[in-house]
Amino acid sequence: MVMQDILGSKGAGLAEMSNLNLPIPNGFTITTELCNYFYQNNYNLPKDFNKELSVAIKNLELESGKVFGDTSKPLLLSVRSGARTSMPGMMDTILNLGMNDEVCEALLHTTNNKLFAFDSYRRFLEMYGTIVILIPPGLFKDAFERHKIKHNIYQENEINEEFLKEIIKEFKNIILNNSAEPFTDPYLQLEKAIKAVLKSWMSERAITYRKLHNIPDNPGTAINVQTMVFGNQGSDSATGVVFTRNPSTGENKIFGEYLINAQGEDVVSGTRTPNHITSDDNKCTYSMQNTMPELFEQLQEICKKLELHYLDVQDIEFTIESGKLYLLQTRIAKRTALASIKIATDMVEEKLISKQQAIMRIDPETLNQLLHTAIDYSQLKTPIAKGLPASPGAATGIVVFSPYDAEKMSHHHKVILVRHDTSPDDINGMHISSGILTKRGGMTSHAAVVARGMGKPCVCGANDLIIDEKRQIFKVGDVTVKHGDLITIDGSTGKIFLGEVPLIPPTFTKEFQTILDWADEIATLKVRSNAETTLDAITSLQFGATGIGLCRTEHMFFDQYKIPLVREMIIAPNLEHRKHAIEKLLPLQIKDFKALFKIMHDKPINIRLLDPPLHEFLPTTEIDKQNLATSMSLPLNIVEQRLHTLYEVNPMLGHRGCRLGITYPEIYQMQVLAILTAIRELQVEDNKNTILELMIPLISDVNELKAIKKYIKNTITEIEAIHKCKFDLTLGTMIELPKAALQADKIASEVDYFSFGTNDLTQTTYGISRDDVASFFPDYLEKKIFTFDPFNKLDEEGVGELINIAIKRGLYTNPKLKLGICGEHAGNPISIEFFHKAGIHYISCSPYRIPIARIAAAQAKI
Ligand code: PEP
Ligand code: MG
Repeated sequence: MVMQDILGSKGAGLAEMSNLNLPIPNGFTITTELCNYFYQNNYNLPKDFNKELSVAIKNLELESGKVFGDTSKPLLLSVRSGARTSMPGMMDTILNLGMNDEVCEALLHTTNNKLFAFDSYRRFLEMYGTIVILIPPGLFKDAFERHKIKHNIYQENEINEEFLKEIIKEFKNIILNNSAEPFTDPYLQLEKAIKAVLKSWMSERAITYRKLHNIPDNPGTAINVQTMVFGNQGSDSATGVVFTRNPSTGENKIFGEYLINAQGEDVVSGTRTPNHITSDDNKCTYSMQNTMPELFEQLQEICKKLELHYLDVQDIEFTIESGKLYLLQTRIAKRTALASIKIATDMVEEKLISKQQAIMRIDPETLNQLLHTAIDYSQLKTPIAKGLPASPGAATGIVVFSPYDAEKMSHHHKVILVRHDTSPDDINGMHISSGILTKRGGMTSHAAVVARGMGKPCVCGANDLIIDEKRQIFKVGDVTVKHGDLITIDGSTGKIFLGEVPLIPPTFTKEFQTILDWADEIATLKVRSNAETTLDAITSLQFGATGIGLCRTEHMFFDQYKIPLVREMIIAPNLEHRKHAIEKLLPLQIKDFKALFKIMHDKPINIRLLDPPLHEFLPTTEIDKQNLATSMSLPLNIVEQRLHTLYEVNPMLGHRGCRLGITYPEIYQMQVLAILTAIRELQVEDNKNTILELMIPLISDVNELKAIKKYIKNTITEIEAIHKCKFDLTLGTMIELPKAALQADKIASEVDYFSFGTNDLTQTTYGISRDDVASFFPDYLEKKIFTFDPFNKLDEEGVGELINIAIKRGLYTNPKLKLGICGEHAGNPISIEFFHKAGIHYISCSPYRIPIARIAAAQAKI
């Protein structure tokens, strides 16, 4: 077990900071074992727990010179959650614990600061009321707003003693009206606060967050009990968050936000918009650097020290109490994909980490953020407003004002969730939205942190927006935007546009290129692409594909001119008709192959002979049937008869793949002719060579392969005779049926390579139709029958076992056998690790997954 498992990441960080002699408030950590005990024992604490707790509190009293619950020198506490993997804002924390009327009075006398004492008391009542007594937060918030109006208070800094006294009275009434239990005894408060924090481990939002981030339900949360340090003691007190490097861009400069006279929750909840830590070339007048220069220097030194200690970027929470700096937390900073690459490459250059470590720091899935859209500013449009660029990327969608509407509307639309600020309860709505826009909050607010983690565009702190959630509108200047209106947000610049805006595909930064080059140096598993159009091929090369691992020739027919010809070929009632249709397709195939080969000229291309699920091509509407009959000069009833004959109950398990090649050899013969003609023409015209791999799909028995191979070889010989040349090519087959995997020894001696079609292999191993899985699968996941979707992540135990068997048997009869993967799993980082270990030579995935696969392939080697 590592330290984080026992102490949680917050507790472990505090222990490390204490060892480094950094200023942290005194305190202790209750280990995650308590959380396990609590859930295993019906929400009870161990028998001796209270005794041990009071010993620990006594020690704190000795260290601080204050006494918990005392009415002369009162000690107040913070009780904070802290799991092994940090889950920002998902669990509960209670501050200012130990408060009651007498303690507040004592605090007032010891500090001689009425505003501070009352402010701390009202904060305690609200937190304790909502988290421990479970009173709806709206009751406190509404009361607060009502009293603000009554006292003509518009800014938090206008809050006065009278206002606070009234608020305290009202908050106490709210508590008394909602709970009969006493809440004024500090020790009872402590016990209840600890139980509430433990319960927050199983709160709905914490469970959702863990599900979304694949965090296990064990070992639970630890609890950190510390002496309160107060950022709300006046103008020489503050609270803030600082990152040792910029978590959005990766720039090597500390970055953060702080609020004077505030407590931690004010910064992260987004209820007040904070100021910058750095002065940013003196653009930020109220920055900490300008306002508190000495403390800023100290903080900067601490950032350096912590980064050097952890050799990674830190996200640090701090509080300044009457001019003295305290650190409340340090953790590895969450960062955008852009920042993670910049930081990783910079740290290699700074000789802090190795190239291998740099690659291991990249979460391949997050690279999606860099592989997605940005706004095309060359076709400039004027934004209607601007906020903070909280999470990069651009998104267009219809405006919704609640997470509920986000979920409802997202079935048919892309949505942008517009909120005053977000809270952890919005997590599902945020997950479903294409982008998030908030009026309040800074770069470290909940919306910003969560959106960055999700890789979603987010604009925060768009102060000019006047949001009216009830009427479902927001206004900015003269513009009114209603629920359902289209807007575009740019999370990289903070700009907000009305309607749709031209978007451009992403471009690589030089650091991204560098890290991909390092990945290629390390990886042994090569990455190819699944591509059949010239655009796919160009994109694949830009993303660093080493070749095409799967060209699905049926996809080359997906256009309005070719579909009727393919239909003719399939429907043809006899050989003569079929040959007629095939003759029309031949020149089109030659043209398409030539264009593809030209782009890929010195890289291998694996062409798969036709594997059409027939139903995808057959006409279904009356008009299409009539058109087909006319173009084939056949009566409609003959076409209908043929359609009737071709009808299949399970087309995905029907007349597909090599079965088509067995019944209609002339189709594969035409394709071979088209491929070789294209190669020959390119040789003659451009002196360009093509590295051809020719693949036969959906083999279950070696006899299918032998039969097709025989006529293909004859066709090749005939074409060679016509052109008076020899074609250099390798012949392979797909292993995508369990019988083929089990008979791999026989099949391997007939071919040069295997390409595992893990989509069909999963479908046939499980006996689950890949087209119908959605009808029942969510229920399987919900009921934990399956823990993952095997069509996304390879099932190593079943499908993986078949792959391993096929490799072993295949290599036994053909030691030179080349091995590839071309199912969707080739783009899944966890599955890539399995393929690497299995001894696969290359994986082939969709073009936009290539960078992800390259990093994952290197990580698999490391
Ligand atoms: C496969 O089955 O994994 C495969 C790549 O082929 P297709 O998806 O075209 O059936
Ligand atoms: Mg397949």
